Amino acid sequence: SILVQDVSKVYQSGEVQILALRKASLEVPDHKVVAILGPSGSGKSTLLNVIGGIDRYDLGSITVAGETLEALKDSQLTEFRRKHAGFIFQQYNLIPTLTVEENVEVGRELSQNPLDMKEMLMKVGMWDKKDKFPSQLSGGEQQRVAIARALIKNPEFLLCDEPTGALDEETGKKILKLLQFVNKTYGTTVLIITHNQGIGEMAHKVIRMSSGEIVEAYENENPIAPEKVTWA
Ligand code: ATP
Ligand code: MG
Repeated sequence: SILVQDVSKVYQSGEVQILALRKASLEVPDHKVVAILGPSGSGKSTLLNVIGGIDRYDLGSITVAGETLEALKDSQLTEFRRKHAGFIFQQYNLIPTLTVEENVEVGRELSQNPLDMKEMLMKVGMWDKKDKFPSQLSGGEQQRVAIARALIKNPEFLLCDEPTGALDEETGKKILKLLQFVNKTYGTTVLIITHNQGIGEMAHKVIRMSSGEIVEAYENENPIAPEKVTWA
């Protein structure tokens, strides 16, 4: 599970200090889909980044996959991240000179139990385009490759920062459905920051942030059933 306890983070911007997280506390049970909502600047990305070990925090405690992050040295934090976490961003960040399959291969990292390449590409509906380059793909297809790249190492957590931000509403909803299906299939815990309306009916838990605080957290009693997504 993920346990965030009274975590605060300050950014120093010139002379000004910005309190990006103010004693944020949160519990994420394993194998769940959790939506993080809130206005711009409320601390959503900061929260995701400290949970994933991309960034450090100033006060409080975070325990993820049995590791207490503030106790880790930088090199250990990097190892933690590479072992346990997969990341998906609004920008797909694919390597333009590599094919779909080669891009996904990059995500294998040091994994002890990677998933099968073909299975992964079938799962995201990109097997028949495995030899294409990113420039030959639509935005939605590129994001599906990015999802496969994040998943191939079989991470315990998938941290998604506006994965649908660059996509139209419909394609975005399909990407969310794919992430929900991945959660169901592999048991991956999925944290998603998104403005796509579709998330409300899929997430097991919804949290809302405002000015660096978690102001609301509730369980969704009845999320819609995950189903396989079909692509045009
Ligand atoms: P958005 O929806 O626009 O992505 P967000 O909820 O993800 O917003 P954060 O990116 O977490 O918000 O930012 C929280 C606060 O911290 C904001 O006031 C932001 O300006 C500030 N902040 C974020 N990153 C930095 C940084 N690297 N340096 C200085 N201030 C930062
Ligand atoms: Mg953000």
